[in-house]
Amino acid sequence: MKKNTARLELSKEEMQKYGYQIVDAIVEHHHTQHEKFPVAFGSREEMDNLFLEEAPESGMDASKVLEFVLEKVMTNTANMAHPRSFSFVPGPSNYVSVMADALATGYNIFSGGWSIGPAAAELEIVTIQWLLKIFGFPKKKGGGIFTSGGSMANLTAVATARRIKCGDDFSKAIIYLSDQAHSSNIKAIRVLGFKKEQIRIIPTDNEFKFALNKLKNCIAKDRLEGLHPFCLIASAGTTNTGTVDPLPELSKICKKEDIWFHIDGAYGGAAVLSAKGKHVLKGIEKADSLTVDPHKWFYQPYEMGCLLVRNHKDLSHTFTEKPEYLRDIEGNTSEINFYDHGIQLTRRFRALKFYMSLKTFGLKEFRDAITYNIDLAEEVENLLRGSKSWEVVFPATLAVINFRYNPIKQNYSEKELDEINQYISHKVVESRKALLVTTILNNQVVLRMCLINPRTTMDDVTETLDLCKTFAMEIEEQMTVS
Ligand SMILES: *Cc1c(COP(=O)(O)O)cnc(C)c1O
Repeated sequence: MKKNTARLELSKEEMQKYGYQIVDAIVEHHHTQHEKFPVAFGSREEMDNLFLEEAPESGMDASKVLEFVLEKVMTNTANMAHPRSFSFVPGPSNYVSVMADALATGYNIFSGGWSIGPAAAELEIVTIQWLLKIFGFPKKKGGGIFTSGGSMANLTAVATARRIKCGDDFSKAIIYLSDQAHSSNIKAIRVLGFKKEQIRIIPTDNEFKFALNKLKNCIAKDRLEGLHPFCLIASAGTTNTGTVDPLPELSKICKKEDIWFHIDGAYGGAAVLSAKGKHVLKGIEKADSLTVDPHKWFYQPYEMGCLLVRNHKDLSHTFTEKPEYLRDIEGNTSEINFYDHGIQLTRRFRALKFYMSLKTFGLKEFRDAITYNIDLAEEVENLLRGSKSWEVVFPATLAVINFRYNPIKQNYSEKELDEINQYISHKVVESRKALLVTTILNNQVVLRMCLINPRTTMDDVTETLDLCKTFAMEIEEQMTVS
């Protein structure tokens, strides 16, 4: 037989050179990213022109491919870690975790079963325990699992809630969430095969919180009709406004009604590390399950979500299936096979980045960064309140602030204000100097800043507001002309 030369390998020297080039590029990026644009544009046509080709039959020099990627791929993407990336939920990330991801991938560690990777499973247990303590969950009984993100954590939660509360028959099951709940929750519910008629979207009050009386009435009505209320999803930091639902009250309702209490704290949950956040998030420890998203405000790179549960057995009861080919690797119950606690069998080693970054920086540095973010948003609110041009539409909450351009002396109509603020956002994004898009609150177009990047400074904010003002004046001029 001919010797196999198709080994998909580089020589040792080539590997080193290639690796150093990549590390150099990443370090350079981290060092200079604030000088680059946070916004990228590219139509399908432009991207096709850059990249569309048949799969090459023969390869080319690795460095050439890398050079092309650094030049064309890495530059044609928004930078969610940029200090002026204010929209959606930014991804500030941190370098230690980036390298940890490189290690996890470099060693191609399988994080599914104990016997294949005892240290990997142990680090997931340890870091989950850190999180359980941070959120005030029972440390012994509690458990959790790392997922690709918040969406998968929410999916895992609803699947668990259904299994525990409904068993196999969920034909009468009803699930409750507010009109401010994140869309990934509805997606999860639909993916799991619930009909639209089984979903109750409860209106929110004027602070965008779950309207408790409407919820209670709805549950009572469903009971009367012989339906089975089984799960409620609360938000701990809505994406729009950072609002936290009345968690202690919702917990009481769920206890009384025997309803699974899931809290989606994907972006906001991390705030529990700061004194202010802990106060706002009171009651988060009462959840049956809690989604947090370390790739948001725990400063981890993508992808990393997490589901914590009050009782770790609920996960294994939901996700354990025993095929014969996994027979030989079943351990005892203390040696957790994470494939029995969630949807994935083969899983990447996500715990490593959380472990290494927390060991390197310490919890205090995370606390300080999160506290800084919350204070910064409050400082921005004060600044806006002190100005005659800006209106605070919703106060700074968990580092999110909603505002709009609305100079007192002008008396613009709502329609004009919508137009002006939409224009401001459009032009700011077009300038590529800041990522600042609008959202809709109470039918008003408003600007929204999510300030969870610890490297964002007050100057980043004020310079962006100045930029907004130039564009505001530009459209005001156009409006007086026409
Ligand atoms: C971002 C977010 C999600 C979805 O998380 P992904 O990591 O994007 O999948 C869910 N809920 C809330 C409140 C979020 O902010």
